[in-house]
Amino acid sequence: MGIPAATTDDAFTLSRLDIDGHSFFGINGGVANSDDAARTLQKLAAELGHKGPTFQLLRHAEGDVLLQGFNRGNGQGKSATLYVDNLFVCQGCKSGLNNMRRLLGLEKLTVIDRAGNVLVWPR
Ligand SMILES: [Zn+2]
Repeated sequence: MGIPAATTDDAFTLSRLDIDGHSFFGINGGVANSDDAARTLQKLAAELGHKGPTFQLLRHAEGDVLLQGFNRGNGQGKSATLYVDNLFVCQGCKSGLNNMRRLLGLEKLTVIDRAGNVLVWPR
């Protein structure tokens, strides 16, 4: 009732990122879509000689929640687990997740989708 059924349509994708005892919650089209922090992150990435996070990643639930983790700054040297409430992680996110992991300073990023597929970076 009012709650969309699980679907491969990513319009309602939610995410949760666990880092060092903290949980962050993200959604497609969340804060990363318009937040100044996204621009700050692009700038920082350029200064560090990294590619900036892709727009597609930032507008998806995966990028939204990783940006929140980045803003809290508690990822350095840690392992994080990202749960995605969708049956798969799209190619756009997959291609940007390792770069985002490095920007957060995470030693390891594990991503688990709704179907139970597990992706780990670095590979
Ligand atoms: Zn995606």
